[in-house]
Amino acid sequence: MSRFWSKTVKNLTPYVPGEQPKLSQLIKLNTNESPYGPSPKALAAIASANTDGLRLYPDPNSDSLKQAIAKVHGLKSDQVFVGNGSDEVLAHAFLGLLKHEEPILFPDITYSFYPVYCNLYDISFKNIPLDEDFAINTKDYIRKNGGIIFPNPNAPTGRALPLSDIKALLESNTESVVVIDEAYVDYGTESAATLVNQFPNLLVTHTLSKSYALAGLRVGYAVGHPDLIEALERVKNSFNSYPIDKLAMAGAVAAIEDQEYLHSISKAVIQTRETLVKDLSQLGFETIPSQANFVFTKHPSKDAAAIATALREKHIIVRHFKMARIDQYLRITIGTDEQCASLVNALKEIV
Ligand SMILES: *Cc1c(COP(=O)(O)O)cnc(C)c1O
Repeated sequence: MSRFWSKTVKNLTPYVPGEQPKLSQLIKLNTNESPYGPSPKALAAIASANTDGLRLYPDPNSDSLKQAIAKVHGLKSDQVFVGNGSDEVLAHAFLGLLKHEEPILFPDITYSFYPVYCNLYDISFKNIPLDEDFAINTKDYIRKNGGIIFPNPNAPTGRALPLSDIKALLESNTESVVVIDEAYVDYGTESAATLVNQFPNLLVTHTLSKSYALAGLRVGYAVGHPDLIEALERVKNSFNSYPIDKLAMAGAVAAIEDQEYLHSISKAVIQTRETLVKDLSQLGFETIPSQANFVFTKHPSKDAAAIATALREKHIIVRHFKMARIDQYLRITIGTDEQCASLVNALKEIV
């Protein structure tokens, strides 16, 4: 704390991202990155963009990226917004679409950045508890609100809702924006992006950080009605005109166009996940059904924080949240088959 800080900064409670350790000999299963490299086409595109053309500013509207994204979803470019990671897209959505008189609604157990944005932008919110088996019950959201946001699948639980539930929610909630954060949609969940032409209050966000294996590039996007997109553009153009740099632009376009690669590495992760869930259950772990590139799991007798510490001593890092209801769970990112086998071996010794 310093006397030079603004009142706003004094009152912030910043998000704490998972650790990015400087050591290299670790099995890193703590921040849901892909264990596979990005599309070779994306890497080649980034290399070809690495020229003296970098002296010029990038396209402030990222038109070619918007076109590539629109094509994948069968939408028009004016239904697409792009940003420096989906975190930035979400931040603009909080300020541009979710800040109203009524509190916004999101689950008690969810992406912990949401309350951070509410705090930053002075948005009131109400947590809606997940039910006992950690499922979102969309009926609990049918009440007066300034907006609704949750990830599907949810994080850190990994549990997904069927598209029919999202559709039913949109049919009964027509007076505020519903944001579905689909960071993990490519691991087996039906995307709500197919509903944006039907519901003018639906915004769906995606990221290239997880399934596209490009967390280091910082690209995310949203699709929705052009009026919602315009709100995000107004915030963006009042904040930073060039969130997508030239290298990110080249890599993201090539990655989006390489859907075949996306599907192949997503499929590999799903297969490893199914094996890991079985192996964990043989060790007595209880795992929430996951549609994501991570599992949320607990052991009936061994303390979660103690397991995380013991794993760390064996150079494996996983995520533990010291939070009510979930402090006995570990969130474990799906690695390669070899990494998951090492994890299972380490757990065998620990539990
Ligand atoms: C990882 C994640 C994001 C942020 O992704 P970036 O595009 O890397 O900013 C957003 N929402 C959820 C639920 C996530 O897990």
